[in-house]
Amino acid sequence: MSLRDLIGDDDLPAGTLRELREVFRRRDVPDDIKRRYISLRARQQQLEQQLDDTSSALDDLHEQIKARKRREQNLEKRLIYNEKTGLANHTVLDNDLHSFLNEANSSPAPRDIVVYIIALDQSFEDAKRSLEPSLSDWIIYETGERLKECLPANSRLYHTRETEFVVVMVHNHSGDVVEYYADRFYEEVSRRFTLPKYTISIGCYIGIACHPDHGSSKRSLLRNADIALSNSIRLRRVSTTYRPEMSVAVIEKIELQNSIIKALEEQTIAEINRQFELHYQPLIEIESCSGTVPQGRVVGAEALIRWHHPSHGLVAPDRFIPVAEESGLIVPIGTWALYTASDLLASWGVRNGKGFEHLFVSVNVSPRQFRDEYLLSNIERALSRAQVAADNLRLEITESSIMDDPEDSLYKIHRIREMGIEVSIDDFGTGYSSLSYLKRFPIRSIKLDRTFMRDLLTDKATMSIVKAICNMAAGLGIEVIVEGVEQYEQIQYLWDLGCRRYQGFYFGRAVPEDLFSAELDDWSMEDSSHGA
Ligand code: C2E
Ligand code: CA
Ligand code: CA
Repeated sequence: MSLRDLIGDDDLPAGTLRELREVFRRRDVPDDIKRRYISLRARQQQLEQQLDDTSSALDDLHEQIKARKRREQNLEKRLIYNEKTGLANHTVLDNDLHSFLNEANSSPAPRDIVVYIIALDQSFEDAKRSLEPSLSDWIIYETGERLKECLPANSRLYHTRETEFVVVMVHNHSGDVVEYYADRFYEEVSRRFTLPKYTISIGCYIGIACHPDHGSSKRSLLRNADIALSNSIRLRRVSTTYRPEMSVAVIEKIELQNSIIKALEEQTIAEINRQFELHYQPLIEIESCSGTVPQGRVVGAEALIRWHHPSHGLVAPDRFIPVAEESGLIVPIGTWALYTASDLLASWGVRNGKGFEHLFVSVNVSPRQFRDEYLLSNIERALSRAQVAADNLRLEITESSIMDDPEDSLYKIHRIREMGIEVSIDDFGTGYSSLSYLKRFPIRSIKLDRTFMRDLLTDKATMSIVKAICNMAAGLGIEVIVEGVEQYEQIQYLWDLGCRRYQGFYFGRAVPEDLFSAELDDWSMEDSSHGA
Protein backbone atom coordinates (compact mmCIF):
# COMPACT_ATOMS: atom_id res chain seq x y z
CA MET A 1 0.00 0.00 0.00
CA SER A 2 1.31 3.45 -0.96
CA LEU A 3 0.82 6.77 0.79
CA ARG A 4 -1.41 7.95 -2.10
CA ASP A 5 -3.73 5.00 -1.49
CA LEU A 6 -4.24 6.17 2.06
CA ILE A 7 -4.81 9.87 1.48
CA GLY A 8 -6.80 9.66 -1.73
CA ASP A 9 -6.71 12.11 -4.66
CA ASP A 10 -7.16 15.31 -2.66
CA ASP A 11 -4.39 17.87 -2.70
CA LEU A 12 -3.03 18.34 0.77
CA PRO A 13 -0.89 21.30 1.85
CA ALA A 14 2.83 20.61 1.43
CA GLY A 15 3.43 20.69 5.22
CA THR A 16 0.80 18.08 5.94
CA LEU A 17 2.05 15.91 3.12
CA ARG A 18 5.60 16.07 4.51
CA GLU A 19 4.35 15.18 7.98
CA LEU A 20 2.37 12.20 6.70
CA ARG A 21 5.26 11.00 4.59
CA GLU A 22 7.41 10.94 7.72
CA VAL A 23 4.80 8.98 9.66
CA PHE A 24 4.48 6.56 6.78
CA ARG A 25 8.21 5.89 6.81
CA ARG A 26 8.44 5.28 10.57
CA ARG A 27 9.25 1.76 11.50
CA ASP A 28 8.50 2.01 15.23
CA VAL A 29 4.74 2.38 14.69
CA PRO A 30 2.58 -0.63 13.79
CA ASP A 31 1.17 -0.50 10.23
CA ASP A 32 -2.52 -0.49 11.17
CA ILE A 33 -2.02 2.48 13.55
CA LYS A 34 0.00 4.34 10.89
CA ARG A 35 -2.76 3.68 8.34
CA ARG A 36 -5.53 4.90 10.62
CA TYR A 37 -3.53 7.94 11.68
CA ILE A 38 -2.75 8.93 8.09
CA SER A 39 -6.26 8.54 6.73
CA LEU A 40 -7.79 10.37 9.71
CA ARG A 41 -5.25 13.19 9.39
CA ALA A 42 -5.93 13.47 5.67
CA ARG A 43 -9.68 13.53 6.31
CA GLN A 44 -9.21 16.19 9.01
CA GLN A 45 -7.23 18.30 6.54
CA GLN A 46 -9.99 18.01 3.94
CA LEU A 47 -12.62 19.02 6.46
CA GLU A 48 -10.55 22.02 7.52
CA GLN A 49 -10.23 23.03 3.90
CA GLN A 50 -13.98 22.72 3.41
CA LEU A 51 -14.56 24.77 6.55
CA ASP A 52 -12.28 27.48 5.17
CA ASP A 53 -14.10 27.49 1.85
CA THR A 54 -17.48 27.65 3.56
CA SER A 55 -16.49 30.46 5.84
CA SER A 56 -15.07 32.51 2.99
CA ALA A 57 -18.30 31.89 1.06
CA LEU A 58 -20.15 33.02 4.18
CA ASP A 59 -18.01 36.18 4.30
CA ASP A 60 -18.87 36.85 0.66
CA LEU A 61 -22.52 36.37 1.43
CA HIS A 62 -22.26 38.75 4.39
CA GLU A 63 -20.61 41.34 2.16
CA GLN A 64 -23.34 40.91 -0.43
CA ILE A 65 -26.06 41.28 2.18
CA LYS A 66 -24.39 44.39 3.57
CA ALA A 67 -24.08 45.89 0.07
CA ARG A 68 -27.72 45.14 -0.63
CA LYS A 69 -28.77 46.75 2.66
CA ARG A 70 -26.72 49.82 1.76
CA ARG A 71 -28.38 49.97 -1.66
CA GLU A 72 -31.81 49.55 -0.10
CA GLN A 73 -31.09 52.24 2.44
CA ASN A 74 -29.94 54.58 -0.31
CA LEU A 75 -33.03 53.84 -2.30
CA GLU A 76 -35.19 54.29 0.77
CA LYS A 77 -33.47 57.58 1.43
CA ARG A 78 -34.23 58.73 -2.08
CA LEU A 79 -37.82 57.59 -1.70
CA ILE A 80 -38.48 59.54 1.45
CA TYR A 81 -36.11 62.51 1.37
CA ASN A 82 -35.91 65.33 -1.08
CA GLU A 83 -32.57 65.20 -2.86
CA LYS A 84 -31.96 68.93 -2.82
CA THR A 85 -32.82 69.75 0.79
CA GLY A 86 -32.58 66.41 2.53
CA LEU A 87 -36.02 67.15 4.02
CA ALA A 88 -38.74 64.53 4.32
CA ASN A 89 -40.94 64.40 1.21
CA HIS A 90 -44.65 63.97 0.50
CA THR A 91 -44.53 60.22 1.30
CA VAL A 92 -43.45 60.97 4.84
CA LEU A 93 -45.96 63.80 5.10
CA ASP A 94 -48.67 61.38 4.14
CA ASN A 95 -47.65 58.89 6.83
CA ASP A 96 -47.09 61.50 9.50
CA LEU A 97 -50.41 63.24 8.94
CA HIS A 98 -52.09 59.90 9.22
CA SER A 99 -50.60 59.21 12.65
CA PHE A 100 -50.99 62.82 13.90
CA LEU A 101 -54.69 62.61 13.04
CA ASN A 102 -55.09 59.21 14.69
CA GLU A 103 -53.46 60.52 17.84
CA ALA A 104 -55.53 63.70 17.83
CA ASN A 105 -58.75 61.81 17.27
CA SER A 106 -58.09 59.40 20.12
CA SER A 107 -56.66 61.91 22.58
CA PRO A 108 -58.98 63.04 25.43
CA ALA A 109 -57.62 66.63 25.32
CA PRO A 110 -58.57 68.51 22.15
CA ARG A 111 -55.65 68.87 19.78
CA ASP A 112 -55.35 71.14 16.77
CA ILE A 113 -53.32 70.16 13.73
CA VAL A 114 -52.35 73.00 11.44
CA VAL A 115 -51.19 72.40 7.87
CA TYR A 116 -49.30 75.17 6.06
CA ILE A 117 -48.49 74.88 2.37
CA ILE A 118 -45.75 77.34 1.47
CA ALA A 119 -45.24 77.86 -2.27
CA LEU A 120 -42.46 80.00 -3.72
CA ASP A 121 -43.80 82.58 -6.13
CA GLN A 122 -42.92 83.42 -9.74
CA SER A 123 -39.80 85.31 -8.67
CA PHE A 124 -38.11 81.97 -8.04
CA GLU A 125 -38.90 80.76 -11.57
CA ASP A 126 -37.56 84.05 -12.96
CA ALA A 127 -34.38 83.77 -10.91
CA LYS A 128 -33.95 80.16 -11.92
CA ARG A 129 -34.00 81.06 -15.57
CA SER A 130 -31.07 83.43 -15.20
CA LEU A 131 -29.07 81.59 -12.54
CA GLU A 132 -26.83 78.58 -12.76
CA PRO A 133 -28.64 75.42 -11.61
CA SER A 134 -26.34 75.03 -8.62
CA LEU A 135 -27.35 78.51 -7.38
CA SER A 136 -31.08 77.94 -7.75
CA ASP A 137 -30.62 74.61 -5.95
CA TRP A 138 -28.80 76.46 -3.21
CA ILE A 139 -31.73 78.89 -2.84
CA ILE A 140 -34.09 75.96 -2.41
CA TYR A 141 -31.76 74.35 0.13
CA GLU A 142 -31.37 77.60 2.04
CA THR A 143 -35.15 78.17 2.07
CA GLY A 144 -35.56 74.76 3.70
CA GLU A 145 -32.90 75.62 6.29
CA ARG A 146 -34.52 78.97 7.13
CA LEU A 147 -37.93 77.39 7.57
CA LYS A 148 -36.44 74.69 9.77
CA GLU A 149 -34.91 77.39 11.99
CA CYS A 150 -38.22 78.94 12.90
CA LEU A 151 -40.22 75.77 13.57
CA PRO A 152 -41.67 75.47 17.07
CA ALA A 153 -41.62 72.17 18.99
CA ASN A 154 -44.24 69.64 17.88
CA SER A 155 -43.94 70.55 14.24
CA ARG A 156 -42.28 69.12 11.17
CA LEU A 157 -41.19 70.48 7.82
CA TYR A 158 -41.55 68.64 4.49
CA HIS A 159 -40.30 69.42 1.00
CA THR A 160 -43.11 68.16 -1.17
CA ARG A 161 -42.50 69.63 -4.65
CA GLU A 162 -39.63 71.58 -6.13
CA THR A 163 -41.00 74.94 -5.03
CA GLU A 164 -43.35 73.82 -2.27
CA PHE A 165 -42.82 73.15 1.43
CA VAL A 166 -45.36 71.96 3.97
CA VAL A 167 -45.32 72.50 7.72
CA VAL A 168 -47.50 70.47 10.06
CA MET A 169 -47.91 71.72 13.64
CA VAL A 170 -49.66 70.06 16.52
CA HIS A 171 -51.01 72.43 19.22
CA ASN A 172 -53.13 72.02 22.29
CA HIS A 173 -54.82 75.19 21.27
CA SER A 174 -53.76 76.88 18.05
CA GLY A 175 -55.63 80.19 18.65
CA ASP A 176 -53.70 83.22 17.38
CA VAL A 177 -50.44 81.40 16.73
CA VAL A 178 -51.60 80.19 13.30
CA GLU A 179 -51.13 83.59 11.71
CA TYR A 180 -48.08 84.39 13.75
CA TYR A 181 -46.23 81.44 12.21
CA ALA A 182 -47.48 82.19 8.72
CA ASP A 183 -45.89 85.65 9.07
CA ARG A 184 -42.67 84.16 10.41
CA PHE A 185 -42.43 81.76 7.47
CA TYR A 186 -43.01 84.55 5.00
CA GLU A 187 -40.38 86.77 6.64
CA GLU A 188 -37.81 84.00 6.55
CA VAL A 189 -38.43 82.98 2.96
CA SER A 190 -38.45 86.54 1.66
CA ARG A 191 -35.27 87.61 3.41
CA ARG A 192 -32.65 88.44 0.75
CA PHE A 193 -30.32 85.78 -0.53
CA THR A 194 -26.79 87.05 -1.03
CA LEU A 195 -25.07 85.42 -3.97
CA PRO A 196 -21.51 86.11 -5.18
CA LYS A 197 -22.61 88.77 -7.69
CA TYR A 198 -26.14 89.73 -6.70
CA THR A 199 -28.73 89.67 -3.99
CA ILE A 200 -32.08 88.08 -4.75
CA SER A 201 -35.48 88.18 -3.05
CA ILE A 202 -37.96 85.38 -3.44
CA GLY A 203 -41.56 85.70 -2.31
CA CYS A 204 -44.02 83.02 -1.33
CA TYR A 205 -47.71 82.35 -0.79
CA ILE A 206 -49.15 80.35 2.07
CA GLY A 207 -52.36 78.35 2.40
CA ILE A 208 -53.52 77.10 5.80
CA ALA A 209 -56.06 74.51 6.99
CA CYS A 210 -56.65 73.33 10.57
CA HIS A 211 -57.95 70.15 12.07
CA PRO A 212 -60.70 69.75 13.23
CA ASP A 213 -62.35 72.91 11.86
CA HIS A 214 -61.36 72.49 8.20
CA GLY A 215 -61.21 68.74 7.85
CA SER A 216 -60.69 65.59 9.82
CA SER A 217 -59.01 63.43 7.18
CA LYS A 218 -55.59 63.94 5.68
CA ARG A 219 -57.05 64.35 2.20
CA SER A 220 -59.49 67.05 3.24
CA LEU A 221 -56.86 68.92 5.25
CA LEU A 222 -54.34 68.95 2.40
CA ARG A 223 -56.97 69.77 -0.22
CA ASN A 224 -58.35 72.65 1.84
CA ALA A 225 -54.89 74.03 2.55
CA ASP A 226 -54.32 73.86 -1.20
CA ILE A 227 -57.59 75.68 -1.92
CA ALA A 228 -56.53 78.37 0.59
CA LEU A 229 -53.16 78.59 -1.20
CA SER A 230 -54.90 79.17 -4.57
CA ASN A 231 -56.85 81.95 -2.91
CA SER A 232 -53.64 83.56 -1.63
CA ILE A 233 -52.15 83.41 -5.12
CA ARG A 234 -55.28 84.78 -6.80
CA LEU A 235 -55.72 87.65 -4.34
CA ARG A 236 -51.93 88.18 -4.01
CA ARG A 237 -52.12 87.84 -0.24
CA VAL A 238 -49.26 86.41 1.74
CA SER A 239 -51.38 83.86 3.56
CA THR A 240 -54.98 82.67 3.68
CA THR A 241 -56.71 80.35 6.11
CA TYR A 242 -59.28 78.06 4.55
CA ARG A 243 -63.00 79.01 4.63
CA PRO A 244 -65.78 76.72 3.34
CA GLU A 245 -66.97 79.34 0.77
CA MET A 246 -63.68 78.86 -1.05
CA SER A 247 -64.56 75.26 -1.93
CA VAL A 248 -67.82 76.28 -3.55
CA ALA A 249 -65.92 78.67 -5.80
CA VAL A 250 -63.42 75.97 -6.75
CA ILE A 251 -66.11 73.44 -7.64
CA GLU A 252 -67.87 76.04 -9.77
CA LYS A 253 -64.60 76.80 -11.51
CA ILE A 254 -63.94 73.14 -12.29
CA GLU A 255 -67.44 72.72 -13.67
CA LEU A 256 -67.03 75.82 -15.78
CA GLN A 257 -63.66 74.66 -17.07
CA ASN A 258 -65.11 71.28 -17.97
CA SER A 259 -67.94 72.80 -19.91
CA ILE A 260 -65.61 75.18 -21.71
CA ILE A 261 -63.37 72.26 -22.68
CA LYS A 262 -66.38 70.30 -23.84
CA ALA A 263 -67.73 73.19 -25.90
CA LEU A 264 -64.32 73.81 -27.46
CA GLU A 265 -63.90 70.13 -28.14
CA GLU A 266 -67.24 69.86 -29.87
CA GLN A 267 -66.58 73.04 -31.82
CA THR A 268 -63.10 71.92 -32.87
CA ILE A 269 -64.46 68.59 -34.01
CA ALA A 270 -67.22 70.30 -35.97
CA GLU A 271 -64.69 72.67 -37.60
CA ILE A 272 -62.30 69.91 -38.62
CA ASN A 273 -65.21 67.76 -39.80
CA ARG A 274 -66.09 70.46 -42.28
CA GLN A 275 -62.89 70.06 -44.30
CA PHE A 276 -61.30 66.79 -43.28
CA GLU A 277 -62.43 63.25 -43.76
CA LEU A 278 -61.06 59.85 -42.84
CA HIS A 279 -60.87 57.15 -45.50
CA TYR A 280 -60.38 53.51 -44.64
CA GLN A 281 -58.17 50.97 -46.36
CA PRO A 282 -58.82 47.28 -45.63
CA LEU A 283 -56.27 45.13 -43.82
CA ILE A 284 -56.46 41.53 -44.95
CA GLU A 285 -55.40 38.29 -43.35
CA ILE A 286 -54.58 35.66 -45.96
CA GLU A 287 -55.52 32.11 -45.12
CA SER A 288 -54.45 30.34 -48.29
CA CYS A 289 -52.27 31.32 -51.18
CA SER A 290 -52.39 28.41 -53.59
CA GLY A 291 -55.28 29.20 -55.95
CA THR A 292 -55.59 31.81 -58.67
CA VAL A 293 -56.45 34.42 -56.02
CA PRO A 294 -55.49 34.50 -52.35
CA GLN A 295 -58.18 33.53 -49.87
CA GLY A 296 -58.60 35.64 -46.77
CA ARG A 297 -60.71 37.98 -44.72
CA VAL A 298 -60.77 41.59 -43.63
CA VAL A 299 -59.42 41.94 -40.10
CA GLY A 300 -59.33 45.71 -39.83
CA ALA A 301 -58.73 49.00 -41.55
CA GLU A 302 -56.21 51.81 -41.52
CA ALA A 303 -57.69 55.28 -41.18
CA LEU A 304 -56.11 57.67 -43.68
CA ILE A 305 -56.89 61.34 -43.61
CA ARG A 306 -58.13 63.37 -46.61
CA TRP A 307 -58.36 67.15 -46.81
CA HIS A 308 -60.93 68.87 -48.99
CA HIS A 309 -59.34 72.28 -49.18
CA PRO A 310 -61.91 75.04 -49.91
CA SER A 311 -59.92 76.34 -52.91
CA HIS A 312 -57.25 73.74 -53.68
CA GLY A 313 -59.59 70.75 -53.76
CA LEU A 314 -58.32 67.44 -52.44
CA VAL A 315 -54.87 67.77 -50.82
CA ALA A 316 -52.85 64.57 -50.29
CA PRO A 317 -51.77 63.84 -46.71
CA ASP A 318 -48.12 63.67 -47.71
CA ARG A 319 -48.40 67.36 -48.59
CA PHE A 320 -50.20 68.72 -45.56
CA ILE A 321 -49.23 66.38 -42.70
CA PRO A 322 -45.62 67.70 -42.60
CA VAL A 323 -46.95 71.30 -42.50
CA ALA A 324 -49.46 70.45 -39.78
CA GLU A 325 -46.68 68.68 -37.91
CA GLU A 326 -44.43 71.71 -38.04
CA SER A 327 -47.11 74.12 -36.85
CA GLY A 328 -48.39 71.82 -34.11
CA LEU A 329 -51.84 71.72 -35.74
CA ILE A 330 -51.37 67.98 -36.14
CA VAL A 331 -52.31 67.63 -32.47
CA PRO A 332 -55.98 68.73 -32.80
CA ILE A 333 -56.20 67.07 -36.23
CA GLY A 334 -54.79 63.82 -34.85
CA THR A 335 -57.18 63.98 -31.90
CA TRP A 336 -60.03 64.49 -34.31
CA ALA A 337 -58.87 61.38 -36.22
CA LEU A 338 -58.94 59.39 -32.97
CA TYR A 339 -62.47 60.62 -32.22
CA THR A 340 -63.71 59.94 -35.74
CA ALA A 341 -62.21 56.45 -35.92
CA SER A 342 -63.75 55.66 -32.52
CA ASP A 343 -67.13 56.81 -33.83
CA LEU A 344 -66.82 54.40 -36.74
CA LEU A 345 -65.96 51.59 -34.34
CA ALA A 346 -69.03 52.48 -32.31
CA SER A 347 -71.21 52.29 -35.43
CA TRP A 348 -69.79 48.83 -36.23
CA GLY A 349 -70.39 47.75 -32.66
CA VAL A 350 -74.09 48.50 -33.13
CA ARG A 351 -74.19 45.90 -35.90
CA ASN A 352 -73.29 43.22 -33.44
CA GLY A 353 -73.48 39.67 -34.67
CA LYS A 354 -72.25 40.44 -38.19
CA GLY A 355 -68.64 39.83 -37.29
CA PHE A 356 -67.80 43.55 -37.36
CA GLU A 357 -67.15 43.70 -33.65
CA HIS A 358 -63.80 41.94 -34.15
CA LEU A 359 -62.50 44.47 -36.64
CA PHE A 360 -59.97 47.02 -35.58
CA VAL A 361 -59.20 50.47 -36.89
CA SER A 362 -55.60 51.55 -36.97
CA VAL A 363 -54.95 55.27 -36.53
CA ASN A 364 -51.71 57.06 -37.44
CA VAL A 365 -50.05 59.02 -34.67
CA SER A 366 -47.55 61.62 -35.85
CA PRO A 367 -44.26 62.27 -34.02
CA ARG A 368 -45.46 65.55 -32.55
CA GLN A 369 -48.73 64.02 -31.44
CA PHE A 370 -46.84 61.12 -29.86
CA ARG A 371 -44.79 63.60 -27.84
CA ASP A 372 -47.90 65.53 -26.76
CA GLU A 373 -48.51 65.24 -23.02
CA TYR A 374 -52.26 64.88 -23.55
CA LEU A 375 -52.00 61.94 -25.97
CA LEU A 376 -53.01 59.34 -23.38
CA SER A 377 -55.90 61.35 -21.98
CA ASN A 378 -57.09 62.14 -25.52
CA ILE A 379 -57.15 58.45 -26.40
CA GLU A 380 -59.07 57.73 -23.21
CA ARG A 381 -61.61 60.46 -23.99
CA ALA A 382 -62.08 59.28 -27.57
CA LEU A 383 -62.80 55.74 -26.41
CA SER A 384 -65.06 56.64 -23.52
CA ARG A 385 -66.96 59.24 -25.56
CA ALA A 386 -67.76 56.66 -28.27
CA GLN A 387 -68.01 53.85 -25.73
CA VAL A 388 -65.86 51.45 -27.69
CA ALA A 389 -63.47 48.79 -26.40
CA ALA A 390 -59.79 49.66 -26.41
CA ASP A 391 -58.78 46.50 -28.25
CA ASN A 392 -60.65 47.65 -31.37
CA LEU A 393 -58.31 50.60 -31.71
CA ARG A 394 -54.70 50.35 -32.85
CA LEU A 395 -52.08 53.02 -33.13
CA GLU A 396 -49.38 53.34 -35.77
CA ILE A 397 -46.24 55.05 -34.64
CA THR A 398 -43.16 55.56 -36.79
CA GLU A 399 -39.71 54.35 -35.82
CA SER A 400 -38.38 57.89 -35.71
CA SER A 401 -41.08 58.95 -33.22
CA ILE A 402 -39.95 56.22 -30.89
CA MET A 403 -36.26 56.96 -31.28
CA ASP A 404 -36.72 60.68 -30.54
CA ASP A 405 -36.90 59.93 -26.84
CA PRO A 406 -36.72 56.16 -26.24
CA GLU A 407 -37.28 56.38 -22.46
CA ASP A 408 -40.41 58.48 -22.77
CA SER A 409 -41.60 56.27 -25.66
CA LEU A 410 -41.15 53.17 -23.54
CA TYR A 411 -43.28 54.69 -20.80
CA LYS A 412 -45.97 55.86 -23.23
CA ILE A 413 -46.21 52.60 -25.16
CA HIS A 414 -46.50 50.70 -21.89
CA ARG A 415 -49.32 52.97 -20.79
CA ILE A 416 -51.05 52.55 -24.16
CA ARG A 417 -50.73 48.78 -23.87
CA GLU A 418 -52.08 48.89 -20.32
CA MET A 419 -55.14 50.61 -21.74
CA GLY A 420 -55.58 47.56 -23.99
CA ILE A 421 -54.48 49.17 -27.25
CA GLU A 422 -52.00 47.47 -29.59
CA VAL A 423 -49.19 49.45 -31.18
CA SER A 424 -47.69 48.97 -34.65
CA ILE A 425 -44.45 50.44 -35.93
CA ASP A 426 -45.24 52.18 -39.18
CA ASP A 427 -43.00 52.45 -42.27
CA PHE A 428 -40.68 49.83 -40.84
CA GLY A 429 -37.33 49.39 -42.52
CA THR A 430 -36.87 53.00 -43.57
CA GLY A 431 -35.43 54.12 -40.23
CA TYR A 432 -32.24 53.30 -38.46
CA SER A 433 -33.36 51.15 -35.55
CA SER A 434 -32.89 47.42 -35.41
CA LEU A 435 -35.71 45.06 -34.72
CA SER A 436 -33.91 43.57 -31.73
CA TYR A 437 -33.67 47.06 -30.20
CA LEU A 438 -37.36 47.68 -30.82
CA LYS A 439 -38.16 44.48 -28.96
CA ARG A 440 -37.68 46.47 -25.74
CA PHE A 441 -40.94 48.18 -26.65
CA PRO A 442 -44.13 46.21 -26.19
CA ILE A 443 -45.23 46.34 -29.81
CA ARG A 444 -47.58 43.95 -31.56
CA SER A 445 -46.61 44.41 -35.18
CA ILE A 446 -44.43 46.17 -37.70
CA LYS A 447 -45.72 47.55 -40.97
CA LEU A 448 -43.20 46.77 -43.66
CA ASP A 449 -42.73 49.98 -45.59
CA ARG A 450 -44.41 50.12 -48.97
CA THR A 451 -41.21 51.22 -50.77
CA PHE A 452 -39.95 47.64 -50.44
CA MET A 453 -42.74 46.48 -52.77
CA ARG A 454 -41.37 48.43 -55.75
CA ASP A 455 -38.56 46.04 -56.54
CA LEU A 456 -39.29 43.15 -54.20
CA LEU A 457 -39.42 40.67 -57.04
CA THR A 458 -36.47 41.98 -59.03
CA ASP A 459 -33.82 43.32 -56.67
CA LYS A 460 -31.69 40.85 -54.73
CA ALA A 461 -30.76 43.36 -52.00
CA THR A 462 -34.42 44.20 -51.34
CA MET A 463 -35.24 40.52 -51.19
CA SER A 464 -32.58 39.80 -48.61
CA ILE A 465 -33.53 42.79 -46.42
CA VAL A 466 -37.18 41.76 -46.46
CA LYS A 467 -36.26 38.16 -45.75
CA ALA A 468 -34.09 39.22 -42.80
CA ILE A 469 -36.83 41.45 -41.37
CA CYS A 470 -39.41 38.65 -41.64
CA ASN A 471 -37.08 36.12 -40.00
CA MET A 472 -36.20 38.44 -37.16
CA ALA A 473 -39.84 39.40 -36.59
CA ALA A 474 -40.88 35.76 -36.48
CA GLY A 475 -38.10 35.02 -33.99
CA LEU A 476 -39.22 37.87 -31.76
CA GLY A 477 -42.91 37.06 -31.99
CA ILE A 478 -43.73 40.32 -33.76
CA GLU A 479 -46.33 40.24 -36.52
CA VAL A 480 -45.47 41.67 -39.94
CA ILE A 481 -48.08 43.64 -41.86
CA VAL A 482 -47.05 44.22 -45.46
CA GLU A 483 -48.00 47.60 -46.89
CA GLY A 484 -48.48 48.59 -50.51
CA VAL A 485 -49.03 45.19 -52.13
CA GLU A 486 -50.24 45.59 -55.70
CA GLN A 487 -49.58 42.18 -57.27
CA TYR A 488 -50.44 38.60 -56.40
CA GLU A 489 -46.81 37.57 -57.09
CA GLN A 490 -45.65 39.84 -54.26
CA ILE A 491 -48.11 38.16 -51.91
CA GLN A 492 -46.99 34.68 -52.98
CA TYR A 493 -43.37 35.60 -52.39
CA LEU A 494 -44.14 37.09 -48.95
CA TRP A 495 -46.47 34.23 -48.01
CA ASP A 496 -43.49 31.89 -48.32
CA LEU A 497 -41.61 34.15 -45.89
CA GLY A 498 -44.44 33.72 -43.38
CA CYS A 499 -46.33 37.02 -43.90
CA ARG A 500 -50.06 36.72 -43.36
CA ARG A 501 -51.38 40.25 -43.10
CA TYR A 502 -51.50 42.63 -46.02
CA GLN A 503 -52.68 46.05 -47.06
CA GLY A 504 -52.48 47.51 -50.51
CA PHE A 505 -54.24 48.49 -53.73
CA TYR A 506 -54.38 44.79 -54.65
CA PHE A 507 -57.09 44.40 -52.01
CA GLY A 508 -58.51 47.90 -52.08
CA ARG A 509 -57.74 51.58 -51.80
CA ALA A 510 -58.79 53.76 -48.91
CA VAL A 511 -62.44 54.72 -49.33
CA PRO A 512 -64.92 56.89 -47.37
CA GLU A 513 -66.56 55.42 -44.31
CA ASP A 514 -69.96 54.62 -45.81
CA LEU A 515 -68.42 52.90 -48.82
CA PHE A 516 -66.08 50.91 -46.60
CA SER A 517 -68.92 49.75 -44.35
CA ALA A 518 -71.01 48.81 -47.39
CA GLU A 519 -68.09 46.82 -48.84
CA LEU A 520 -67.69 45.09 -45.49
CA ASP A 521 -71.28 43.96 -45.75
CA ASP A 522 -70.50 42.48 -49.18
CA TRP A 523 -67.26 40.89 -48.04
CA SER A 524 -68.93 39.26 -45.08
CA MET A 525 -71.47 37.66 -47.45
CA GLU A 526 -69.01 36.54 -50.15
CA ASP A 527 -66.84 33.48 -49.80
CA SER A 528 -64.21 35.89 -48.55
CA SER A 529 -61.96 35.82 -51.60
CA HIS A 530 -60.56 39.16 -52.63
CA GLY A 531 -58.48 40.76 -55.19
CA ALA A 532 -59.59 38.85 -58.29
P1 C2E B 1 -48.93 55.52 -44.32
O1 C2E B 1 -49.29 55.51 -42.90
O2 C2E B 1 -47.75 54.70 -44.73
O3 C2E B 1 -50.23 55.10 -45.11
C1 C2E B 1 -50.25 54.24 -46.18
C2 C2E B 1 -50.19 54.99 -47.46
O4 C2E B 1 -49.93 54.09 -48.50
C3 C2E B 1 -51.49 55.68 -47.79
O5 C2E B 1 -51.20 56.89 -48.45
C4 C2E B 1 -52.10 54.67 -48.75
O6 C2E B 1 -53.06 55.24 -49.61
C5 C2E B 1 -50.89 54.22 -49.50
N1 C2E B 1 -51.09 52.92 -50.11
C6 C2E B 1 -51.83 51.91 -49.63
N2 C2E B 1 -51.78 50.83 -50.46
C7 C2E B 1 -50.95 51.18 -51.45
C8 C2E B 1 -50.49 50.49 -52.64
O7 C2E B 1 -50.82 49.33 -52.91
N3 C2E B 1 -49.63 51.15 -53.44
C9 C2E B 1 -49.23 52.42 -53.20
N4 C2E B 1 -48.40 53.00 -54.05
N5 C2E B 1 -49.65 53.11 -52.10
C10 C2E B 1 -50.51 52.49 -51.25
P2 C2E B 1 -51.90 58.23 -48.08
O8 C2E B 1 -53.31 57.98 -47.72
O9 C2E B 1 -51.57 59.17 -49.15
O10 C2E B 1 -51.17 58.62 -46.75
C11 C2E B 1 -49.84 59.02 -46.79
C12 C2E B 1 -49.29 59.19 -45.42
O11 C2E B 1 -49.89 60.28 -44.71
C13 C2E B 1 -49.53 57.99 -44.54
O12 C2E B 1 -48.62 57.01 -44.82
C14 C2E B 1 -49.35 58.59 -43.19
O13 C2E B 1 -48.01 58.68 -42.86
C15 C2E B 1 -49.91 59.98 -43.35
N6 C2E B 1 -51.26 60.02 -42.81
C16 C2E B 1 -52.43 59.69 -43.38
N7 C2E B 1 -53.46 59.87 -42.54
C17 C2E B 1 -52.93 60.32 -41.37
C18 C2E B 1 -53.48 60.68 -40.10
O14 C2E B 1 -54.69 60.61 -39.82
N8 C2E B 1 -52.59 61.12 -39.15
C19 C2E B 1 -51.25 61.18 -39.40
N9 C2E B 1 -50.46 61.59 -38.43
N10 C2E B 1 -50.71 60.83 -40.58
C20 C2E B 1 -51.54 60.41 -41.55
CA1 CA C 1 -49.74 54.17 -41.38
CA1 CA D 1 -46.80 53.06 -43.58
